Amino acid sequence: MSSTENRLDEGGAVGESLLRQIPSVDELLGREALRALEARLGRRLVVDATRKVLQSLRARISNGTLAKVSVEMLEKEIVAATEKTAELSLRPVINATGVILHTNLGRAPLAPEAVEHLVEAATRYSNLEYDLARGERGKRDAHTDRLFAQLLGAEMTLVVNNNAAAVFLALNTLAAEGEVIVSRGELIEIGGSFRIPDICSKSGATLREVGTTNRTRIADYAAAINERTRALMRVHPSNFRVVGFTERPALDELVNLARQHSLPLIEDLGSGCLVDVAPMGIRDEPPAGASLKAGVDVVTFSGDKLLGGPQAGILTGKKEWLAKIRSNPLFRALRVDKLTIAALEATVALYQRGDLSAIPSFRMIQMPAEEIGARAARLAQKIDGRGGLRAEVREGESVIGGGSTPGQSLPTRLLAVTHAGHSAQELEQSLRRNSPPVLARVENDLVLLDLRTVFAEQDEEIARAFERLA
Ligand SMILES: *Cc1c(COP(=O)(O)O)cnc(C)c1O
Repeated sequence: MSSTENRLDEGGAVGESLLRQIPSVDELLGREALRALEARLGRRLVVDATRKVLQSLRARISNGTLAKVSVEMLEKEIVAATEKTAELSLRPVINATGVILHTNLGRAPLAPEAVEHLVEAATRYSNLEYDLARGERGKRDAHTDRLFAQLLGAEMTLVVNNNAAAVFLALNTLAAEGEVIVSRGELIEIGGSFRIPDICSKSGATLREVGTTNRTRIADYAAAINERTRALMRVHPSNFRVVGFTERPALDELVNLARQHSLPLIEDLGSGCLVDVAPMGIRDEPPAGASLKAGVDVVTFSGDKLLGGPQAGILTGKKEWLAKIRSNPLFRALRVDKLTIAALEATVALYQRGDLSAIPSFRMIQMPAEEIGARAARLAQKIDGRGGLRAEVREGESVIGGGSTPGQSLPTRLLAVTHAGHSAQELEQSLRRNSPPVLARVENDLVLLDLRTVFAEQDEEIARAFERLA
């Protein structure tokens, strides 16, 4: 017998004896720790985890990678496995990327006022579709309609699932089986495969492209109008910029042309500000109210971009057209639930009060770089020099994101971290696997954290994540 065979045989004998030591599922489930676990998380998860742990144990014994069976060790593995399965998948993360409206991270965080209202609506009955003054059935639009009327001078406002749904519904109602005229410079794609030509064709409207990528004149729109034309549409090029030899008609010109031909003018504003954000240093994000004032018939925008509310699509403007949109059977399929209405109503009510600083995304936009730098410096002091970590504060840039304000950024201060024994990628990965996950950027072999998008009370959590790493 060769020495290899000899060892294998020994392994086999040891394996046999280890396999005999494995406790039964029932024996394990009867143990104090697992009974407590079962009371907390339910029998099903604990039984499943126990079976899985025992299965992997047998595999490890068979391939000779396990030398001894301990019940305490099994118990620990079962608790960890059960807890992992019981963990909810949608989890809060710390956004240290400096992208304020990060679509992958849920866009705008809600104001506490919005959350409070949402919880009330969620946990109690409400007058969602009930007119309390008349004691009869009401409309769910009423709650937000009055606010947009007051803030924007809108005749009527509808809320649907998101802005993609709003654009779709407007086109389907107003231009299906006819043509909608759009400038070639505005045939945009937004992340998540929202493309104007695709939405158009799905809505049943024929897209009539006019002008060129960089220049479209009012005469181009005028020349394209024919008996099949149902609407004119303007799209805010929210996530890119065309610079140089460019031209697009003024909104007034489009309004006049639409009037002359009794056609509705639809404008997809994308980010949709309710206030003028130019004083905050944000360019090219026209407020929705300005479009309505100029005479646009139907303006659409998102609830969770610059507005800072829940995911929603807002359609606002003239009653003549919005009433038609409201009676489209698809409105029923795209309408929002009470939670969205509650969060949106309370968010928009903050604008009514002029309390913009209550909206987290606006606070982040307006946060001075010096304040971010001071927080970064405090963190750097805690981290620098600990267990191979080096940390310092650098200048950098934050972006608003969410497909808005292309080419614009906000000056910020970054916490730049390196580790003597690990690459920036490894460091970033460890932060991402922290509980709670901390999401940072990697640039030039540095892990960069931008505290603009980190809530101040989370700074401590970041310090702890680095402590664990050190
Ligand atoms: C973001 C955006 C959309 C899509 O809005 P969602 O609310 O994400 O559906 C549509 N049009 C424009 C111009 C946008 O910027």
